[in-house]
Amino acid sequence: MTTKRVGVIGSGQLGRMMALAGAPLDVEFVFYDESLSSPSSSLGRTIQPSAAKSLEEFLDCVDVVTYESENTDADLVAAINKVKPVYPGETSLRKSQHRLTEKSNFRDLGIHTADFLRVASKDDLLDATKKLGFPIVLKTTTMGYDGKGQTVIKSSSEIDGAWDMLQGNELIAEAFVNFSRELSVIAVRDIKGNTKVYPLAENEHAEGILRLSRVPVANLSPAKQQQANNYITTLLDSLAHVGVLTLELFDTEHGLIANEMAPRVHNSGHWTIEGTPSSQFENHVRAICGLPLGCTDARDHFSAMINIVGKHGDRESVLSMPNAFLHTYNKTERLNRKIGHINLIANSEAKLEESIHALSAFINECG
Ligand code: AMP
Repeated sequence: MTTKRVGVIGSGQLGRMMALAGAPLDVEFVFYDESLSSPSSSLGRTIQPSAAKSLEEFLDCVDVVTYESENTDADLVAAINKVKPVYPGETSLRKSQHRLTEKSNFRDLGIHTADFLRVASKDDLLDATKKLGFPIVLKTTTMGYDGKGQTVIKSSSEIDGAWDMLQGNELIAEAFVNFSRELSVIAVRDIKGNTKVYPLAENEHAEGILRLSRVPVANLSPAKQQQANNYITTLLDSLAHVGVLTLELFDTEHGLIANEMAPRVHNSGHWTIEGTPSSQFENHVRAICGLPLGCTDARDHFSAMINIVGKHGDRESVLSMPNAFLHTYNKTERLNRKIGHINLIANSEAKLEESIHALSAFINECG
């Protein structure tokens, strides 16, 4: 096997974990980012976009390019793709960058979504509340993440406040989904079109930030796992996607409702590092480097992932637990910043819950 060199646009924790997964496969990494002290910096060379001829230099030294964020400049991706392959491709990226395009695409593919309407004026908003009924979720069509750029409107008295908050942006109004829990499905597709799907994860958020994921999902019918598999393989094939793709879902009594997709490895898939034979990071690297995909089945145990948000917390307590795996991102403490995660494995659901409870300070840590 010859050494491949992957170029990553960005140099955050996702690039870091891709590089850690790629090293045993003789895959090397180069990062394209302004910061020289980022989570990925110690794992490969960084080329700064502001430097003269930096893009040429970056592309000269890599075989294939990928990116860490759905907010990556799609025009840059298109330009790079004329010189070196970029995976996932421009179509996946553009479709995930705009909530209206994304939801229309889901609907066209038969993937269920909340009812939604475009909102370009206050009259449109009033019209949307009439057509969709209260409550509605009003969101910016672009650049929203971790619950930012959106608000719930519960009654007509809240319309003015919501409009004042978000006007000036292109908006989408969505019917409020009465879900019982939030799930995500992650899958990978290789250059030849082979796909593999990871088991669904159940996700808990606070202040719009993912705190805890659990696998397997309790009391999940095989029909719902199948529906998730169908949704994501339909998406992967329709986009001719190469690499990992994530689909966030609402679980309802009428089946799974798609909320949004991310053309990348995802926070809710970090459990796969110890929870599966080939993690989402390894499979992303395999897919974009033209290597055969690895197994995505859960190992024979229960898994959880706890995000470390804001403060590092008591690392020694994690390191003293034989079933806990600490992953830090070389980031400094800052309010609401994701600075690491803890993966847990256990041979029973009860043991997993006990371990989650032992580390509950991390879940509640908001500092
Ligand atoms: P998003 O930015 O679309 O991922 O939304 C952030 C969070 O808001 C989701 O994880 C849900 O908890 C909630 N949410 C978003 N859209 C809806 C919806 N249409 N109905 C109910 N809750 C929603």
